[in-house]
Amino acid sequence: MKFNFFSEKGSCNAVLLIYTGGTIGMKEDPEDGTLKPFDFNGILEEVPELRKFALKIDSFAFNPLIDSSDVEPTLWQALAKLIRERYDDYDGFVILHGTDTMAYSASALSFMLENLGKPVIFTGSQLPIGSPRTDGKENLISAVEIATAKDSHGHPMVPEVCICFNSQLLRGNRSVKVNATGFDAFKSPNYPPLATAGISIKYNNSFIHYGYDRRKEFTIHTMLDTRVSVLKLHPGITEQAVRDILLGGGSRAVILETYGSGNAPCRPWFLAIVRDACRSKILLNVTQCQSGDVDMDIYATGRALKDAGVICGHDITTEAALGKLFYLMGRHEDNAQVKTLLEKNLKGEISK
Ligand code: ASP
Repeated sequence: MKFNFFSEKGSCNAVLLIYTGGTIGMKEDPEDGTLKPFDFNGILEEVPELRKFALKIDSFAFNPLIDSSDVEPTLWQALAKLIRERYDDYDGFVILHGTDTMAYSASALSFMLENLGKPVIFTGSQLPIGSPRTDGKENLISAVEIATAKDSHGHPMVPEVCICFNSQLLRGNRSVKVNATGFDAFKSPNYPPLATAGISIKYNNSFIHYGYDRRKEFTIHTMLDTRVSVLKLHPGITEQAVRDILLGGGSRAVILETYGSGNAPCRPWFLAIVRDACRSKILLNVTQCQSGDVDMDIYATGRALKDAGVICGHDITTEAALGKLFYLMGRHEDNAQVKTLLEKNLKGEISK
């Protein structure tokens, strides 16, 4: 479904609003009282303020609209293709998306979009846009403003994949959903906000990535290898559970969610399984802590993982680790090459 409208002031910059679903465009089903997506036309009627921008605003809605708990990598591939197809027609892109998996989608897109020179801004809301106290309007308006903001030379202020939420602009692949009910749903614990929206929008230029090359083309990578599992360590974890996830067929990589600065149990059975898994799989060490990073040289418990062949995730989030693995494994057959690239900062996802 597609439609477009022009702002009252005629067209200057152009933005494509892409609606995938999520609370921002949901309303209550009178039959069972649950929130379900409604027609995207309703969103634009709810935000007449958008017409006041001197912008051309086009829209594209996916069909079906989904609660983001149903997001699959096929949506990321479709988003990447849509942005590639429309790249030359717009100054920026705003993706309306449910909050539950927004950090996963923003992370994955950051790897899939190569040499991105325009803003791709994810946003959504905690309350449907039709509710009197909705946070959706402000989030959407700020996202549109940021997606089309230019510096004095006419270059985009934020040529990155970001999340705009509750007056903050966060790097997509640094973001995590931290609050299920509050308006401050997202944080990027290991990286400063790229911008803050107050009376005006203040850009944190020194933290924004301006590394795209204007002479090179914008391209996309849509080959993803999704054979990744996640093992979250916890006291009392059983040998069988560790064996099933680390040695089970079907996965090519496992994200090991470890304690503190990358620590795990030193029990012989645990390390034997890890060593065994490292012979054929990629094991990536990501800390369960929100802030700080993995350093496998501090404690013997971390060093044992390093010696077994586990790769250091530094301060990557699990959300970004998943997208990075899908992307790298989709591009490279050779696990050794994937491991080398995992250690590198590709899209600002790790502090290294
Ligand atoms: N369950 C919803 C979703 O992620 C929540 C939201 O949009 O905030 O689609």
